[in-house]
Amino acid sequence: MHIYKNTGQSHIRDRRGVHRSMPLSSISDLELELDGEVLSLDRSTPRADVTFVSHAHMDHVPRRRSAPVLASPLTFDVMRARTGRDHVPAERTRFGPYTCRFLSSSHAPGATMLHVEGDGLALTFTGDYCDQENAFGVSPEHVACDVLVMDSTYGDPRHRFPRREDVRADIVRWVKRVTREMHGSVVFGAYTFGKAQELVRILTEETGVPVLVHEDIAQLNALCERHGVSVGDAVSASSPEGQEAAMDTFVLVTPPRTLDAARAAYARLTHRPVVTALVTGWGSRRHRCFPLSNHADFQGLMNLVAATSPRHVYTVHGSNKRLAKAVADRFGIETTPLGR
Ligand SMILES: [Zn+2]
Repeated sequence: MHIYKNTGQSHIRDRRGVHRSMPLSSISDLELELDGEVLSLDRSTPRADVTFVSHAHMDHVPRRRSAPVLASPLTFDVMRARTGRDHVPAERTRFGPYTCRFLSSSHAPGATMLHVEGDGLALTFTGDYCDQENAFGVSPEHVACDVLVMDSTYGDPRHRFPRREDVRADIVRWVKRVTREMHGSVVFGAYTFGKAQELVRILTEETGVPVLVHEDIAQLNALCERHGVSVGDAVSASSPEGQEAAMDTFVLVTPPRTLDAARAAYARLTHRPVVTALVTGWGSRRHRCFPLSNHADFQGLMNLVAATSPRHVYTVHGSNKRLAKAVADRFGIETTPLGR
């Protein structure tokens, strides 16, 4: 790893051996050199010998032919299901003196951080990061490191999310009110992988209302179950069972793009109220929103830095510059925002 210790700080050498303070040169070229080999992080780059994929959200999955991939078994299977392509597994975790291992992350089923250790140094790359336990009982795993390359999607001090258990309770209360008091049904829009499975788990566990899902979500639910992630007892809306369940009150979880069409179709079919909501932190003028985030907010990110005690922090995505400044101010360590 081209990071070396010097006066208590981490630095890096570039390919010509010149010392630089920024090992990961840009967001479009996010890579590590480990004993002469290039490990790209959450993107495929032309120089990469191995590509690490932290989780199977599409903005992290290599789009074109990539170097052999290092990822959790669940991430591999979800990538295959979503892209129709097989990725060649890297099948090794050692690069010279450096050993790579996965740390659990609660961002999505199968999501992991990458922890690289060797030659007296440790680096953690978080990928997308959530600081709180998810609906599947998974919490992020924190290991001390010298260099932390961290998600800064919500790294602005103004980003503050409500507690997940409060959002969860709001969702359950609202579903019960619609189904019991209004005798209506609910159609939730939620991203197909990650958010949809969490929502299904919450709804099946806590509402007692039959849960239907879009076919794409049903397939990913089955995949998660095969890997031991218990999503809950939901049925595909297009199955005979799902069509029968739709004759009474129900909750449907469907991709956001299909939300309006699904509401209209079920309102016509059932002649009963069908109300919609989105599970997103981004807000919407047209639909009720429940901000169940699978990213950490600003304070959650600051807590991550405190828990891992790095000497150099790199911030990636979103509010990278604001978070880099806030971390430098609070912890008095060197920070570098990556990318724009
Ligand atoms: Zn993600």
